[in-house]
Amino acid sequence: MSSIYEKYNLKQVINASGRMTILGVSTPRPEVVEAMVTGVNHYFEMKDLVNKTGEYIAGLLGTEGAVVVACASAGIAQSVAAVLVKDSDWLLENLHVTPVENNEIVLPKGHNVNFGAPVGTMVALGGGKLVEAGYANECSAEQLAAAITPRTAAILYIKSHHCVQKSMLNVAQAAAVAQQHNLPLIVDAAAEEDLQRYYHDGADLVIYSGAKAIEGPTSGLVVGKKQYVEWVKRQSGGIGRAMKVGKEGILGLTTAIEYYLSATKESGAQMVEKMTPFIEALNGLPGVSARVVWDSAGRDIARTEIKFDEARTGVPTGTLVEQLKQGEYAIYFRGYKANEGIIEADVRSVTADQLAIISRRIGECLQENQA
Ligand SMILES: *Cc1c(COP(=O)(O)O)cnc(C)c1O
Repeated sequence: MSSIYEKYNLKQVINASGRMTILGVSTPRPEVVEAMVTGVNHYFEMKDLVNKTGEYIAGLLGTEGAVVVACASAGIAQSVAAVLVKDSDWLLENLHVTPVENNEIVLPKGHNVNFGAPVGTMVALGGGKLVEAGYANECSAEQLAAAITPRTAAILYIKSHHCVQKSMLNVAQAAAVAQQHNLPLIVDAAAEEDLQRYYHDGADLVIYSGAKAIEGPTSGLVVGKKQYVEWVKRQSGGIGRAMKVGKEGILGLTTAIEYYLSATKESGAQMVEKMTPFIEALNGLPGVSARVVWDSAGRDIARTEIKFDEARTGVPTGTLVEQLKQGEYAIYFRGYKANEGIIEADVRSVTADQLAIISRRIGECLQENQA
């Protein structure tokens, strides 16, 4: 494996930042990789593969329909295209030639985020026109409803830590507004862990990223009401072709979902056990204090908080974070509090050996800065 890094002169990464798209998100378990290998090595009637794996996933999740797509972004674009094109053969092949007249996609203003690419770009790819409801800091059910016009095609709701959280209506409230206006509700829940909740809250289509919480291959999942999922599938003859998912992605994600639902996850207590020697090593370094902190969203995730006394380390923590990316290993942390002298290590994707490398590197960097 190290030969790939040598062949292309790539830097080896230690990922203590969690599920980050810029680092390749996650590494699937061996059973998932095996399903992907089976996928690439065989032929299938692709329509059959899409339909049968979709039915299987829908059965696992208790939804009317499901389909594997290339990624969550592709899921958003194809969901928008699906609600505009529906059964029309003409629009399927002419979506961007003859723009659909009633193509407005209403979403709360605080949901118009950049998750690495803008939500609005995906909506535009699907032929939609974004219309913001409410304000940067609030959107009620009434404010969402007020943005609906005869040109509205759907409501879009982004369930994400990227979004404004305060004074926001929830998915069930958005679903009620959609039902009152006889419109579909599309929910982007790309990084969320619950694969059933938003469907049960009344969404017509719910979109997930395959490699984030599910830890599958690069792929996406769209679940929802039967008719809407069928319309998403039709897009393989339209914009979906430019974002085609392979047979290995379809089989890999299906297997990953199966394990995701049944496997017991690494518990917070196990994470604490793993990080204890690491914390002890860090606390032995001058100007460094480390401790266990728990996930602020209440999930059973423990992380290591590393606090630098900059008066003693003599280096801005932001600079140190950059230095740690530059060594033999590129070491990535959760660095959003670096301006306060605090970084966090998410140990879920880090081995005990790598934790030892991290504490050693921090010690070396601090020493270099002292010199
Ligand atoms: C990650 C993310 C996406 C994009 O997921 P991909 O599978 O990488 O396309 C979309 N929306 C939100 C809220 C995300 O967090």
